[in-house]
Amino acid sequence: MESLSQMAEQWLGLHLSAEQEAALEWYGAELLRWNERMNLTAIRTPEDVRVKHLLDSLSVLTVTGCLNGKRVVDVGTGAGFPGLVLKIACPQMRLTLVEAVGKKLNFCEHVAAELGLDGVEFLHARAEEIGRQDEHREAYDVAVARAVARLPVLAEYLLPLVRLGGIMVAQKGETAPQEAQAARYAVGVLGGSLEKVQKVELPHITEVRYLVLVRKVAPTPARYPRRAGIPSKRPLAP
Ligand code: SAM
Repeated sequence: MESLSQMAEQWLGLHLSAEQEAALEWYGAELLRWNERMNLTAIRTPEDVRVKHLLDSLSVLTVTGCLNGKRVVDVGTGAGFPGLVLKIACPQMRLTLVEAVGKKLNFCEHVAAELGLDGVEFLHARAEEIGRQDEHREAYDVAVARAVARLPVLAEYLLPLVRLGGIMVAQKGETAPQEAQAARYAVGVLGGSLEKVQKVELPHITEVRYLVLVRKVAPTPARYPRRAGIPSKRPLAP
């Protein structure tokens, strides 16, 4: 298999320095080491980690462009995907990681400390809570999430956090086009406008990957997000 930086260049048009590649490779190896005693990922081999976690996370940059200087929030980050990968690729971005499960966030803190990443905030919280807090509401240029919820629900988690003119990016599998259609109502109510559903081609995998990009075009009404648990129980629908 080619190196991570070769694959990033060839498949995503992204350049990684030798230091960035080494940091990402260490992160992937550390994930597998921790995974022996704690369930952080279903992905078990270094090759799969490289493509399905690292390269897949980097693919976000193909729709956002470089994130240096931007304020970014990753909701439901788990073991740090895509947030920490984006931070390694764009060290001058300010990153907030939001995760409901504390032990996963502990792993993220460990990775950031070991790699000397600064400008990272770790929030052990639910998206619905921080979406109502002044310091986070409509405060981010970009809100991202991978494998967290279906789009109508995810829009209620992410759009309250995005500033006017900013974007939310959802990393999705093959159901993305249908989900995007089904989410049009929710996206509109929350102040968003669906901009594009972009297919992502990655090597060595059969899964279809998409990036769904929604722009914030109007303020999110004050009643959203609803209480924790309600968005997933009663997704916004016409
Ligand atoms: N984004 C990571 C990835 O792609 O590897 C983790 C995906 S994992 C399937 C989904 C994560 O989202 C879980 O760690 C879960 O605890 C978190 N999560 C789900 N709903 C959440 C919410 N409302 N607020 C914060 N975290 C949430």
